[in-house]
Formats: sequence, structure tokens, C-alpha cells
Amino acid sequence: MLAGRGGGQRARTRQLPLPSTAPCPVQNPLTHSSHMSDGQRYNSPGLYSHPIPTKTPLHPSPGQYNYGGSQNVSQLSNYQGPGQTLNRAPVGLISVAPLQHTGSSPQMPPPSQNSAAISSAGSFLPGTNPPALSNWQYGQTSVSQPAGSQTSHFAHVTGAVPTQPSASSSGNTNPPTSYQYAASPGVPPLPNSYMKPGSAPPPVSQPLPSTYPPARPPLGSPPSGGPPLGRPTAAITSPPNSSVSQALLNSATNQEGKESVNYLFFLFTHPSPASQNLKMGRSVGYSYPSLPPGYQNTSPGVPGMQPPPMQYPDGPQSFHQPALGTNHLAASMGSLSLQPEGVRLVNLLQERNILPTTPLQAPIPNLHEDIQKLNCNPELFRCTLTNIPQTQALLNKAKLPLGLLLHPFKDLSQLPVVTSSTIVRCRSCRTYINPFVSFLDQRRWKCNLCYRVNDVPEEFMYNPVTRVYGEPHKRPEVQNATIEFMAPSEYMLRPPQPPVYLFVFDVSHNAIETGYLDTVCKSLLDNLDLLPGNTRTKIGFITFDSTIHFYSLQEGLSQPQMLIVSDIEDVFIPMPENLLVNLNENKELIQDLLRTLPQMFTKSLETQSALGPALQAAFKLMSPTGGRISVFQTQLPSVGVGALKSREEPNQRASAKDIHLTPSTDFYKKLALDCSGQQVAVDLFLLSGQYSDLASLGCISRYSAGSIYYYQSYHHKHNPVQVEKLQKELKRYLTRKIGFEAVMRIRCTKGLSIHTFHGNFFVRSTDLLSLPNVNPDAGYAVQMSVEESLTDMQVVSFQSALLYTSSKGERRIRVHTMCLPVVTTLSDVYLGADVQAITGLLANMAVDRSVSASLSDARDALVNAVIDSLSAYRASVLSVQQPGLMAPFSLRLFPLYVLALLKQKAFQTGTTTRLDERIFTMCQVKNQPLIYLMLMTHPSLYRIDNLTDEGALNISDRTIPQPPILQLSVEKLSRDGAYLMDAGSVMFMWIGKNCGQNFINQVFGVPNYASIPQNMTHLPELDTAESTRIIAFISWLREQRPFFPILYIIRDESPLKPSFLQNMIEDRTESALSYYEFLLHIQQQVNK
Ligand SMILES: [Zn+2]
Repeated sequence: MLAGRGGGQRARTRQLPLPSTAPCPVQNPLTHSSHMSDGQRYNSPGLYSHPIPTKTPLHPSPGQYNYGGSQNVSQLSNYQGPGQTLNRAPVGLISVAPLQHTGSSPQMPPPSQNSAAISSAGSFLPGTNPPALSNWQYGQTSVSQPAGSQTSHFAHVTGAVPTQPSASSSGNTNPPTSYQYAASPGVPPLPNSYMKPGSAPPPVSQPLPSTYPPARPPLGSPPSGGPPLGRPTAAITSPPNSSVSQALLNSATNQEGKESVNYLFFLFTHPSPASQNLKMGRSVGYSYPSLPPGYQNTSPGVPGMQPPPMQYPDGPQSFHQPALGTNHLAASMGSLSLQPEGVRLVNLLQERNILPTTPLQAPIPNLHEDIQKLNCNPELFRCTLTNIPQTQALLNKAKLPLGLLLHPFKDLSQLPVVTSSTIVRCRSCRTYINPFVSFLDQRRWKCNLCYRVNDVPEEFMYNPVTRVYGEPHKRPEVQNATIEFMAPSEYMLRPPQPPVYLFVFDVSHNAIETGYLDTVCKSLLDNLDLLPGNTRTKIGFITFDSTIHFYSLQEGLSQPQMLIVSDIEDVFIPMPENLLVNLNENKELIQDLLRTLPQMFTKSLETQSALGPALQAAFKLMSPTGGRISVFQTQLPSVGVGALKSREEPNQRASAKDIHLTPSTDFYKKLALDCSGQQVAVDLFLLSGQYSDLASLGCISRYSAGSIYYYQSYHHKHNPVQVEKLQKELKRYLTRKIGFEAVMRIRCTKGLSIHTFHGNFFVRSTDLLSLPNVNPDAGYAVQMSVEESLTDMQVVSFQSALLYTSSKGERRIRVHTMCLPVVTTLSDVYLGADVQAITGLLANMAVDRSVSASLSDARDALVNAVIDSLSAYRASVLSVQQPGLMAPFSLRLFPLYVLALLKQKAFQTGTTTRLDERIFTMCQVKNQPLIYLMLMTHPSLYRIDNLTDEGALNISDRTIPQPPILQLSVEKLSRDGAYLMDAGSVMFMWIGKNCGQNFINQVFGVPNYASIPQNMTHLPELDTAESTRIIAFISWLREQRPFFPILYIIRDESPLKPSFLQNMIEDRTESALSYYEFLLHIQQQVNK
């Protein structure tokens, strides 16, 4: 396509291999700095820099354009790349059976969405200055959501969308019949049909005056009635409920006969090796070890504040898996009711040992067990408030943020996959049929998001699982909150693209000196056959320094041919047809190149970096197909477009002000948006010992839905532990699942509205996220507000739908649906607060705030979130004022987690955190699933010199000890012991001075403490029980995450000890308050 252009473009060709492999004599002094040396010092001046926060909104204006990575719904995009038109003739990969209802064309996005986007954007355009919010995290009461977003969901609802959403907004004129199990507006709701009883307010409160609206019967038992012990009688006897729940059970347990289904197939995805590792998640129920002496929970009779195990199915339910028995669930629910832990009030200043000794679980929504049983796994889909406030006013009162945290493409060990010519969706809002819709009768179902009554297609009447006709409510789509559809042709804008991988390598002198290219090429060689793909997979390579080098891998060549383009002002692509080649057909040439590349530039003295032009070239090369660009960069780009200048001033690192968190150029963002339009994602591997302006470079990945990896001070000789990390993470990166040309839409029940998105993507229209690539390790978050009162609604639902092309060329849709109860009282809102999800969402918001305002503003806002919510709780829920700092049980860890955020690299002040390191941590906050974000914020500390097999896990013949989690305080350390701190991407093993010689002997293979090597990063595998246990435990922790934590073994006098101590969140440092001091500060503010 670029052939025939003349002018100053010059291309030279030369044959490989090139120069000899003599090492370059010039050393780059900048690569020698040790990894930990800078970040660990405690030389900051001053104390906690903002002890008395001023109240400032975190979001100056919703919808304001920002570089923080979150994107508001308002963004208008013209990035409708070629092939995005929906009118294109479908590509017939799957024959489509005649649809019963012709009115719906299941396309994504529906045309109405675009107009909605345009109409809604007006009030949010940059410069229009919507009214500032009085309170940063609580949605947008003062900003009325434009009508467009309603239109997008509800434009076709019969009877329009009234301001009074109650009564007949659904257009439901048909009385419910026996299949209904959702209370429908317009008819009296069935009491208790969704709600589990027992949502009583904290016992310390006086019984609250009834605040139920007249038209609405109370949910569950009256607040003053105390938690009942079992299921409500209504639920047992009422025909609608019991018939359905019985049906659900039948269907879930009757799995036979699916092999011979004619037109509907269930496939179960083969778990990848990684997913097998992941499937034994930490939330899986297992028996926990008993508490250690001296570490007792003060809550009476409740070990570890742990909800009973087996509350959630492990991953989405599959048809092979017998359903969790009602009895089992009823028993655990009953035990919950007997121990109303959740309604307990905690005096934080008195109860110091509030940290559970086992990983904190997500709260269980207060739903009827038959509904909850079908709910989405919280590892995939989670809400900050599992009790949704009925009105925005109530939400505002609670002073807690409302939002969702998603991990939509997580590796799953079992995933039901449906191939059907009819994907049943709501004709009005396009919601996929799901477990929380209601069947009015066999022929009609009511959407749980917009309440439109839809016809059940003829095909859907047949249940392939039971091979029975007339059981639409037993279909897998209605039995699984997580499900994947094979998409028919109308979901394709063009034929599914082949997997295309382009690698772009920095080969400047600096890059070669780090030795990274050798590691990367070796990893690629090792994993070439494991790249996800099929016979259509294509691959290509570009290298660059001050010029750009292409590699022709044309069939018939005896060796790869290098083509150098030295005109970086207007890069052209020589021989584009031979640069991206079929992997299978040209494997030998490709292997040849990978073996040769690391040696080719060893004599190069070229120090310049033309990253921008190289990325432009990569984009041009990839545009026709889409795919993935993996770029490896080791320094600040210095020539051509996108060249950057150093902005880091080490003297100002300690200051929370005037640090450069925003990009210095919009080049990388613009190019990312071009990439996004052509279904190209760019993953950035930054391996650098010097400042490289990740704030600017990171935009290339952030807006193209790529990933960012950062290896600070990577050097193959001076920092060998990084080499192993890169190898391990590359293996995961190269072999993990990948989805191409993806879009994701998140829908929620009418009345709720999503207004801000966090993560790596581009918001293409109101609620459509453009994800040129989607990977299983990416997390997302959204903020929501209550747009219209949820009057008469017992429950609301949320649904994410991810449409993508698999590496095998199939178009697939992965759908997750979550259902949550609606509550009317403040105490119920607090009761359902999910403190981890709240912390995760606040962290995302704080990154935006750091970028749009300042780090100190973000820190103040975080502290205010604690003060405001606990003040509101004190003022509005507690009827008897007590001394101390009172928190609802659900929020007992909130101050601790916020303090942990303030001490985290992204938000800390007063240390010498490098700017790129801070930016990278912010990228992680934005892009990591909640479980990893929490671990890097509040690490887990274990004592490991006394591990036993008691309560251990047994996974494929391995015994994995499960030591209790300790509080992060040196008070918990004994000089007689050894401890492991798991901070997510890094682990520290601290050995006390008086640690038993036997242990040191058995684990390190050395005679005594003094002979433990200083810079140890590996444990020897010794044939002792102690060694086996510790290695099994550490390996198990590592296997569960997609990145590789480095293990630093430190003695008491180790120079790395400060890094270890820095993670002791509860302790005071020179620059930050201790947990207790923080609590006192909060108390002072709350009691004002
Ligand atoms: Zn609908």
C-alpha cells in the first residue's frame, strides 16, 4: 500500500547474520544503579504532610477530559475505523436459523447507542464546565445525567421512561404467572422472593422508624424483628418461588444427555496450564488453621471473621458440577443469621486485632439463596455496595462510592459455552437473557434491566440439557451468571481477524547493554509454538535505534533479510507483504532471526532512540489486519516524533506537588487512538534504569487496551533477579489467552447509570469500551450513580458483555450478570459495604485525582472518604453516641486499607519513589484485578519458621501449608522467627537474629544465621520437611498470579530491610502516621 512512494526514503538491504558477538566495551553508567537502592531510603523531611485534609472533590467535574486513564461516558469519538459499520453483509461462518422474532437484530452496538452518545455528550464536553460536585466520590447528584443514556437503554420501553419509574414503566400488562420469580413493578412485589431475611440494622441502634414508602411492603423481616433463623415461610410456600427453585435445582443436577443435542452444543474450554494454576483460588473454601496464640479476634465466638466456606461456587457453575445443595446453603445462611457478625459495631480504637487471619472474602449479597446460588462469582464481578441504595439521596448520605469492579476475561477452569443460532436478548435494551430475568409464562420473559416483556423464541423452548421441550427457564443461559456464546455472523463487522503479533525491539546501545534482547528472543524461541493462534497466525519483527529496521521473512529466502529505513520523518514500509508472515509456514526463518538478533547489534554505538517513528511504522504495518504490538523500550525516546525530555527532578521527589504525572505530549495517546480504530493494541515493556517518562509512553498502551510492564534497572548481570522475572512474565504474556477486536459493554438496571470507567481501553460511545486486545489479567472499574429512584425494585442487575475474536478465529461473547438487592435504610447500605471493592475503586479515583489535580489532593480525598463515611455512620445510624471511633463491621478495615493506600508507592509522599515507579504503580492500580491490587496495597505477612501441615491444602500431591495472616506491624515480629511478606509483585523473607539454627539449617542449608548469604533471592531445594513446606507455600502463592514476584531473603541488618519495613502499614515511619495515630486523627475529625 505504500509502494511507489518516492522522495527521500531510502532502504538498504543487507544479509544476516551481521556483526561478531564481541561485547561492547562501553559501559552505560546509568544501568548500574541497584534496583532497591533508591526507593528504600527514609530521608524525607517532614511528617505526614496533610494531617488535616481540606475537603476537595476528587472529580472536579464528571466527564472532564483527563489523562488519568479513566474515561467518562461523555467522550465523543470519531474513531469508527473501517470495518466498523454494522451494515456490512454478515460473513456466514455459522448458518443462522430463521429467527422467530424478526424485530431484533442482535448487533453490538445497536444504532441507538450512537445517537445516545452524541446527545449525551453535550453537557460533558471539555470546557462546558458542568457544576462541580460537592462531594467527589458520590456520583453526580448535581449533574443531571443526560437523557441520552436513558435512551440508549430504554428508548423503546412501552410507555416511555417516566420520572416516576414505579408502577407500569415496564409496560407489563400481564399478570405474572407461576414462572415469575422477580417482583415486577406494577404488581405487588412478592415479599421475600429475592431477599434473604435478616437484614437488620446494627443492634446498637434503636429500631428505626419505618421508612418504607407506603406502596412498598418491607423486604424481609421488619428491622426490629431480629434476624430470623431460616428461610421465610413465604419463600417456601409461595408457588412462584418454589416451583422455580425446584426447577433450577433439577436442571442443574440433571446433566445427562448433552452429547446428543442436535443444534446446541456445550463446550467446555480446556483450561490452560495457567488457568489450572489459577483455579485453586484463595477464596476457595478450605479449612483454615486455628489462630495463633496471642492473636485472638475480639469478636466473640467467630473465628477469623470468615464467612463460612463454600458460599460461592468456585468459578461459574458448570453443568458437570452438581449444584450446591440448598441444604448446605441454607445451613450456612442459617449460621450467619445465628451469628449476626455483619451487624456488629466495632470500636476501632479498642479492637486492635481486626485483621482476619485468612484472606478477606467478598460479602455475600443478601438475596434469597436460590437467587444467590446463581449469582456471579465475586472474583469476576463485584460491587462496592452489595446492598444498593434505593435513591441517590441515600447513597449521598452513606458517603461511600458506588461502582463495579470487573475481571471479565479471567481464566476460568470451567466455562459453559453455548452454540446456538439464536442468542436471546431483550429487544429493547439488548440485555442477554440471564438467570435474573423473569418468565411471565413459557412464551414470555421480562428483562431484568429495562422490564420490557419479550417473546421466548421457539428454539429457546427446547432445553438441550434435559432434552425436554417447554423448559425455557432451565436453559443454560438462565442457569449461569457467567456464560459464553459462539456469536453468529451478525456479530461480525468483518471476517474474524487472524492472530497477528508484531515485536518491536529497542536495539540502541543502551538496550543492548542491558542484555534484555537475549532473554526476550530466547523466550520467544521457547514459546513460539505456544503463541495462541491457528494456521492463520502471523508474526513480524521491527528493531530500531536512530533508524528503523524491518525484517523480510519471505518464503524461499535462505536467511532473513534486513531492511533499514533511515528516514524517520516519514516512515514508509518496504515490502509490507513480507514483513508479517505466516508463523507455521516460515518458522525456520523466524527461528533463524530470533537466534541471530541478540548478536546483531552488539557493536552498535548508536545511542539515539526513534521510538515514535518505530511505533508509527508498526501501526502502518498492522493497520490492515489489527493485532498485537509488543514494544520493548529501554530509554527516553530521543529522535523523531514522540521524542521526550527528562522531566524528573530528583530533588522534588519528596514533594507531593509539581511532579509530572501527566503526559508531556499527546503523540502517544493519539497514536493509541489510531491503533484502537484499527484493532491494534500496543503492549509496552519498559526496561530501564533511567527516567523514561512512563507518564507519556504509557498512553500508547492505556488507550489501545494494552498492558504495561516495567523492569526497573533491568540488567542481565547487575540485576539477575530481574532476568528471571522477565522470563517468567514473558512466558505468561506470550502464552496467555488473547481476544482480538473486542468491545465490552456494561449494562445496569434502569435507574442506575454508569458515568466513569477505569482501565486500559477507549470509550467509543456512551458505554461501549473499545478493546483491540483483551487479556485475562486485566481488571476494570466503573463508577455509578442512582439516576432515578429504584422505587418498588427489590433487586437490580448488572451485566457485562465482552465480544471478541478468539485466537482460533471464532467470534465469541462472554457475559457476566450480577444481581443485588435494593435497600432503603442507611444501616442496610453500610451492612452491605464491600470494603475491598470500595478501596479498589477509591484507589482508581485517586489516580485520576492525582493526575487532574495533585497528589496531595488525592491523598486528602482518600482520608476524607474515611472521615465522611464514618461521620455519616455516626450521625445517621448510631442512635446512642459512644466514645471511641465506631465503625460498622463491614467497614472495620476501611481506615487500615486507606492508610495502606497512602503508604503505597502510587500515593506516598516523603520518600524517594522514582517518578516512573510511581507512574507504573498507578498503571497497576488502574489495570489490575482487585485481588492483586489489594495485595500490593496491603501485603500478607506470615510466620514461616513453624509451618505445619495442619489445615494445609492438598493440590495434586503437594501439601501447601496455610499459615495465618499477621498484622503488618513489627510488634508481630519475633527475633526468634522467620517471616514471609507477600506484597504481590515482590516478596520478602525476613529472618530474625535468633531464628532457630535447626530451621536455618533445614531451609537454607547453612550452619547459622551469620552464614546466610546477603543477597539471597532463591531458596535451595533441600530434602527436609521445612524446606519442602516453605517452597511449596511460596510456589503456590506465585502460581496464583500472572506476574512473578521476586523473593528477597533479608537478614536483620540487610540493606533491604527498610523496604520490608516500609510495608509495615500499621507502624509509624518518618513520613507517615501509624495506624493508631491515623485512627486518632480520623476520630478527631469524625467527632468534630
Ligand atoms: Zn431490556
